Amino acid sequence: MNELSCKLLIIGAGPGGYTCAIRAGQLGIDTIVVEAEKPGGTCLNVGCIPSKALIHAAGEYEAIARAAVGRNALGISTATPLLDFAKTVAWKDNIVRRLNSGVAGLLKRAGARHVTGRASFRDGKTIEVETQSGRQVIHAEMVVIATGSEPIALPLLPFGGRVISSTEALALTEIPAKLVVVGGGYIGLELGTAFAKMGAAVTVVEAAPRILPQYDGDLSEPVARRLTTLGITVLTGAKATALVADGSALALASSDEQTSLEADKILVTVGRRPVMSGFGLETLDLDRNGPFIRIDDRCRTSMRGVFAIGDITGEPMLAHRAMAQGEMVAEIVAGLRRAWDRVSIPAICFTDPEIVTVGLSPSEASEKGFDVKTDLFPFKANGRALTLERDDGFIRTVARADNHLLLGIQGVGAGIAELSATFSLALEMGARLEDVAMTIHAHPTQSEAFHETALKSLGHAIHI
Ligand code: FAD
Ligand code: NAD
Repeated sequence: MNELSCKLLIIGAGPGGYTCAIRAGQLGIDTIVVEAEKPGGTCLNVGCIPSKALIHAAGEYEAIARAAVGRNALGISTATPLLDFAKTVAWKDNIVRRLNSGVAGLLKRAGARHVTGRASFRDGKTIEVETQSGRQVIHAEMVVIATGSEPIALPLLPFGGRVISSTEALALTEIPAKLVVVGGGYIGLELGTAFAKMGAAVTVVEAAPRILPQYDGDLSEPVARRLTTLGITVLTGAKATALVADGSALALASSDEQTSLEADKILVTVGRRPVMSGFGLETLDLDRNGPFIRIDDRCRTSMRGVFAIGDITGEPMLAHRAMAQGEMVAEIVAGLRRAWDRVSIPAICFTDPEIVTVGLSPSEASEKGFDVKTDLFPFKANGRALTLERDDGFIRTVARADNHLLLGIQGVGAGIAELSATFSLALEMGARLEDVAMTIHAHPTQSEAFHETALKSLGHAIHI
């Protein structure tokens, strides 16, 4: 049996683990990262990247298909387009492949060693890895657990056959004629919308009274409107209960009726859970925070020298949170004084239109006892949004009523994901409404809606 030793051992090379390994390597720490699959984790291989590729392809196809049926206000017409989905899939897979080798190259350049295989704990400082060339033992001074998350299955609707998770949905080689999506949250709506645009008849089954229950109704409303325009059926207050007879239909229960839906594929997207079992984690007996590993503001677990980062540590389960934690832990291991002091973690739902949230919503701010000023500026009054046919939506600011400090910024609108950086920067820099109002925003851009929201909140909006 081969034996290796290092100062820092990272289990999992997702966004959390690989970022930690690269930063540790840059800081001269002797680092090994162990990954059972391909570098990049859920995000790169079966999450953020392939889903955004499909969402883009679907958007392009739908715009042309709309023009083909004369629903194009710009005067563009065309013959009915054809979607060669095999080519779409090849294009998506090629992006993933390029990024896989990119991450492997970055790890190498940083001097971090990369071991491929499934790790399991012998104790808090020793792991065993099943590699293709046999069993490898690795001793480390410090360990980072970055094993991520996996899809939650419904007890009466286990994955298999027609019942698929996001991983299988992103690997489909043809568009299902009838797709039922169980769970109208992030994944269900991002992927459901993409498949609908590419021609699937999509029904979304959501247990809560409305889609995207994690956002307030003002933010989810434009998305709900667009789902209707796209012909997607949305059943709210409904739960999938079981497969019917030969498995070709799904039984549903809502408060007033029982019904069933035919489906070629049933995509279950009811949340994700941390990967906690199958690698001897129980032998460490770490403190838990619900189903997740409990961490402090330095990502330290209850065992000395053992850190945890990313989805395994809880909500929000987002790639950029995992990366920021990974970077911080590497710097702590290098002896730098670091602690988690971020004002906010932006969240973007890549639906059509996109939803961006940073910091506190109006109700969260009020619940925390702040007296707030909340204002919004609609894209209908923004020239750039009109020229891009992106006028459904708004930008909203939440600021303290007394000193105008921004507490939260939210928006919904096509193409506004890129505004998340400016929103985050404003919060991290402790901006007040006056700072945004005094910043010249280029014309014509959708970002002017942010400027105008601040002006409006100060009582002197120009364009409304
Ligand atoms: P993961 O990315 O899950 O990586 C964990 C890694 O650990 C995996 O590669 C796994 O193989 C490895 N591993 C597990 N156990 C072992 C073991 N015993 N030995 C060795 N290796 C092991 N987030 C966003 O911010 N933006 C998005 O647009 C977005 N879109 C998403 C779309 C979908 C469809 C999904 C499913 C998720 C999406 N997410 C998105 C969430 C994002 O993917 C996760 O938050 C992120 O990947 C978490 O990173 P992580 O490093 O904690 O774990
Ligand atoms: P989610 O929590 O976003 O949505 C799950 C939805 O399923 C909820 O609306 C919930 O009410 C509903 N639900 C639960 N049980 C149900 C049932 N029995 N029948 C019908 N509906 C039911 O979870 P997700 O979409 O699986 O995504 C998981 C996580 O992945 C997200 O929380 C997010 O952290 C991450 N993610 C992020 C992005 C992004 O950043 N753009 C994209 C995809 C995924």
